[in-house]
Amino acid sequence: MRQQRQDSGTGRAAGTSIFTEMTELARATGSVNLGQGVPELDAPPTLLADVSAAVLAGHNQYPPAFGFPALREAIAAHQRAHYGLDLDPAAEVLVTSGATEALAAACLALTGAGDEIVTFDPAYDAYPAGARLSGARLVTVPLAIDGDGFQLDPDALRAALTPASRLLVLNSPHNPTGKVFTPDELVLIAEAACEHDLTVVTDEVYEHLVYDGARHVPIATLPGMRERTLTISSAGKTFNVTGWKVGWVSGPAALVAAVMSVKQWLTYASGTPYQEAIATALGGVADWAAGLRETLRGNRDLLAGGLRAAGLSHFRADAGYFLQADIRPWGFHDGLRFCRELPERAGVVAIPTSAFQQGVDTTPWLVRFSFCRREASLRDAVARLAALTP
Ligand SMILES: *Cc1c(COP(=O)(O)O)cnc(C)c1O
Repeated sequence: MRQQRQDSGTGRAAGTSIFTEMTELARATGSVNLGQGVPELDAPPTLLADVSAAVLAGHNQYPPAFGFPALREAIAAHQRAHYGLDLDPAAEVLVTSGATEALAAACLALTGAGDEIVTFDPAYDAYPAGARLSGARLVTVPLAIDGDGFQLDPDALRAALTPASRLLVLNSPHNPTGKVFTPDELVLIAEAACEHDLTVVTDEVYEHLVYDGARHVPIATLPGMRERTLTISSAGKTFNVTGWKVGWVSGPAALVAAVMSVKQWLTYASGTPYQEAIATALGGVADWAAGLRETLRGNRDLLAGGLRAAGLSHFRADAGYFLQADIRPWGFHDGLRFCRELPERAGVVAIPTSAFQQGVDTTPWLVRFSFCRREASLRDAVARLAALTP
């Protein structure tokens, strides 16, 4: 048995989170902050202009609770154009306050005490938080290291599923590893979901940020999955506007209605001018995202080269914002210690991947570096690391 169980309520120790600690350390030491996944890149100028115009035109009151109609239509059109998924914008699309609200509302709507939420480890921290909120138990399936990447262990997935399993939270492209789940892995997950009658909640906020030959395939497009999948995405990562908190969830009407029943008491609705502007931007996302992918792929390669030149090896990142570095070549085994010492030694801040590990951590020597920064920041970081090469 390789999966680990975590009782709800026994989350990470209270107090300062590693993200707060490292951001504070970056400030205090004047370090280049490659810890947080906050993009330093520009948003599309027309999107910014459209939001300003909407604000000045007085579009500043509550939007409809399900979201601005033009945005729901744009989301449905996006899913059809990019993935061939047909959605009724009136019943199968819900706009949320970021992907985060959609995730929390889905956990609250669909699980409770006695239920299990299954996800892959390491995991984005909203998933254990969602389990804690709903009272469900989080069960994690460790991703296995395979050469220079991470892969699904089918035995570990099978072992994690029990009669109490309700929800499977899939994050592809994956934070923090940069993994894009392969078509074969998606088939395995889909088969397990059908066999165990699970609802799949899929976090696809990095859907447009895939590099090289990798391709993002929403699990909702697999046989038998449309009727049991809630697909979540967000404008934050796609358009470099993480502060706007406009996300969305789509899927069968009954599941979307269940999420809405919770969402209406969380925020009810939010971000009228942002929703209006994103409705327009989403139609042109293909061209925009092609340019953003080029920028981020270049950034990834720059950082990867810098890590290698500094004597650190790293894993493949086919998507997203992050590279996983192996710190053992520097004589470290503990990512937390490494990250606490790095700002003083090199003027660079990173985050120990252990912060994302919910179960037993078999890779405490992984450290996450983000490359969603301006090229100049990355060049600075790479030069600082090079100066330190032991
Ligand atoms: C950034 C991020 C989110 C948060 O999305 P918001 O739209 O800002 O709420 C959700 N999931 C993953 C995997 C992320 O990296």
